Amino acid sequence: MSQSTVLRTVGFIGLGTMGREMALNLMKAGIAVRVFDVRREAVDELATLGAHAAASVADAAQGADAAIAMLPNTPDVEAVVLGEDGLLANPPAGRLIIDMSTIAPVAERRMHAACAAQGVEYVDAPVSGGPIGAKNGTLTIMAGGTAQGFEMSQPFFKAMGTTVTHVGASGAGQTVKLCNQLICGINIQAICEAIALGRASGVDLKQLREVLMGGSAASWMLDKLGPAMIDADTAAGFRIDLMLKDLRLVQEQSHALNVPLPASAMVTNQYLDAVAHGEGRNGNQALFCVYDRMTAQTSR
Ligand code: NAD
Repeated sequence: MSQSTVLRTVGFIGLGTMGREMALNLMKAGIAVRVFDVRREAVDELATLGAHAAASVADAAQGADAAIAMLPNTPDVEAVVLGEDGLLANPPAGRLIIDMSTIAPVAERRMHAACAAQGVEYVDAPVSGGPIGAKNGTLTIMAGGTAQGFEMSQPFFKAMGTTVTHVGASGAGQTVKLCNQLICGINIQAICEAIALGRASGVDLKQLREVLMGGSAASWMLDKLGPAMIDADTAAGFRIDLMLKDLRLVQEQSHALNVPLPASAMVTNQYLDAVAHGEGRNGNQALFCVYDRMTAQTSR
């Protein structure tokens, strides 16, 4: 890409399942991307596709209009944003930091305050849509922060998502994301139960899913994960251990605010069961393994 076609520059930290695809979509939109990940091979691979390989978090942010983080969990984002060599100590020239990971709302509010004290906009902007949405640039992005921070983030959001909404002040993006995850987890559990009952009753499971998709039980999860559940395919897309992390965040917020969430608590325990059986790196559809154990069934 010639320098004249570069619209903007962004530092992108975290090139995993989601971040790699999101960085590529920024590049496709004509944005120069300076990438960093602790996995050097992930950085090198994106460099072969036109990104600038940064040597550190600070190097990724250097001279950029914004820095974007797409990291696993709260301590990872805190280290990258607040750490000695992190983004706040080395802010991008455009003084904008966007965290698109799914982490604790309370941590986002703390980081927002620390950034605001130094004149840096900080936006929490978690996403929904999974690796397919990340690849196709069709993510749903739910952003929390100031109106100005949201406005400054728009060119980057537009390159990665189709439904982009400013849902409130700092932390609100993460709260909306946790509501999304709560519904997804309980929905996956409901589908596992329907398949367990249908299997024990001897109905054709493929047909069961097709019929359900035509009626009021239809859902994104039944559509996208149902076939893998029926085929006993455990391969990862969105991992069990990441969903457990999100359901734990839901529980933390429910406890902090005294909001009873009994269905979320129950499904959180099923995810704990899966992780306790060494299934954390499977895809979410593999919650069916918990039902296989409960029904003493190992294949279908
Ligand atoms: P991932 O584990 O595949 O990728 C995370 C990347 O961050 C890895 O490449 C890792 O090496 C890197 N990393 C970790 N610590 C780092 C550090 N200190 N500095 C630099 N790089 C570091 O995770 P993912 O599936 O891409 O998910 C990222 C976030 O997005 C998570 O919070 C997840 O919950 C959320 N999310 C995931 C999905 C999904 O379907 N995978 C969907 C929506 C949201």
